[in-house]
Amino acid sequence: MRCIICGGLDIEDKEVEEEIKVGNDIVIVPVNVKVCKSCGERYYDRETMKILEETEERIESGQLKIDLIGKVLKVVGAINQHQG
Ligand SMILES: [Zn+2]
Repeated sequence: MRCIICGGLDIEDKEVEEEIKVGNDIVIVPVNVKVCKSCGERYYDRETMKILEETEERIESGQLKIDLIGKVLKVVGAINQHQG
């Protein structure tokens, strides 16, 4: 296959860390996807999308063992952009 972003032909199978949101939590899920070596674009096939959806459901229903590795934090209030 050819990368639709950069046209590169060098696309490899790679394990990446995908982040899914479960409630207010972010859960990192290692999945195998195809990644363009030139531009880094990730390609998800239908099967991978299904796995991610199922993983989200399994986390929500407590069927998967997950570890707390950090916290998701949020800045309170909007940050003003520099003017001019
Ligand atoms: Zn590419």
